Amino acid sequence: MTGTYLTLNAGSSSIKFAIFGSDDGTENPVLKGKIAGIGSAPVFSAQDAENMPIDSAAMAHIDASLDHEDLLARLLSWLRAYQGDQPLVGVGHRVVHGGKKYSGPALISQAVLAELEALIPLAPLHQPHNIAAIRAVAQWDPHLPQIACFDTSFHRTQDHLAQLFALPQAFTAEGVIRYGFHGLSYDYIASVLPKYFADKPSSRVIVAHLGNGSSMCAMKNRQSMATSMGFTALDGLMMGQRCGTLDAGVVLYLMQTKGMSAPEIENLLYKQSGLLGVSGLSNDMRVLQDRDTPEAREAIELYCYRAAAHLAGLVPAIGGLDALIFTAGIGENSALVRHLICDRLAWLGIELDETANKQNAVTISTDSARVTTCVIPTNEEATIAAACQQAFS
Ligand code: ADP
Repeated sequence: MTGTYLTLNAGSSSIKFAIFGSDDGTENPVLKGKIAGIGSAPVFSAQDAENMPIDSAAMAHIDASLDHEDLLARLLSWLRAYQGDQPLVGVGHRVVHGGKKYSGPALISQAVLAELEALIPLAPLHQPHNIAAIRAVAQWDPHLPQIACFDTSFHRTQDHLAQLFALPQAFTAEGVIRYGFHGLSYDYIASVLPKYFADKPSSRVIVAHLGNGSSMCAMKNRQSMATSMGFTALDGLMMGQRCGTLDAGVVLYLMQTKGMSAPEIENLLYKQSGLLGVSGLSNDMRVLQDRDTPEAREAIELYCYRAAAHLAGLVPAIGGLDALIFTAGIGENSALVRHLICDRLAWLGIELDETANKQNAVTISTDSARVTTCVIPTNEEATIAAACQQAFS
């Protein structure tokens, strides 16, 4: 191993990290972990290359008052000490928004950083944390090269039409377009498709990334043609706490009739809606599946009904469907959700082998189904690692 690189995914309440050997592949980090619960009760956890937990006295107690930059500085020092004499050759960051410009990773410079800052209004809940992580690393070691890997980049292959809202052109010109998100996950799935579909058609694929944040992407020849998320990560599928597609008239009603302010509406649509809002119980699919209340059941059914409807709406962008891929926390683990979504899509040629589905098998469609349905675990870190390998070797 001639060196290592670090991948960082700094979110609002967690920082996920991984270290990859520059001579190794991108699937297996030598170390990975996260600091979860930032802002309330931060907890550090890490695993080595064999997935065994790493005990760290230095990271065992983290003061709840530490902000993202303090935590990153502490994490970086710990990583340097843990790594010993393995030099770090670069850092790759997940950055949610690359605007219209970035259709691939970008080497960070002052000019790039200024461009990313200008995009904060388009992703106010995520972009500031991503930028703070870049700044923290630069402060820690100003000579360490850093790249930004964007969640929007993968969708920049879409037709102009797929990116448009039906608004006056002046809004389109200033950047009010459908950007799409979860691009690092879709990029990863696109990269492994040939491995899973060596002898089956896979030119027209829909990937359902069903996690706490949920979206779908319609790909033709492994390129994004359409996606369910739009200008922000609020659009499209119902999610853990986000409402997904909502008649814009509801927002007007909330403002004009209920007198709600923009922060109140933001909180309602981003934090109090989705599975949590409908069930009144939880944003966690596991909890809802375990609690057999009518509200929990309705939340799951609405999630699946709307997912099926969005899926059907994406098919025209790719002119038919060869394969459906489920990924992310819910997509990879919930046989019930996959069953309820696919049950509504038999007319598209989707048919599940329920035994394979219950086992979370790789291929879960019947042999006779027109559409091959698979469960493929996503790996966003691998996409960042692949970009690091290209940039730093
Ligand atoms: P994110 O990365 O967007 O935070 P994840 O991809 O980790 O989200 O997905 C989190 C979701 O996956 C939660 O709703 C969780 O309940 C769900 N999930 C994880 N494991 C299971 C499981 N075994 N059955 C059902 N849902 C699951």
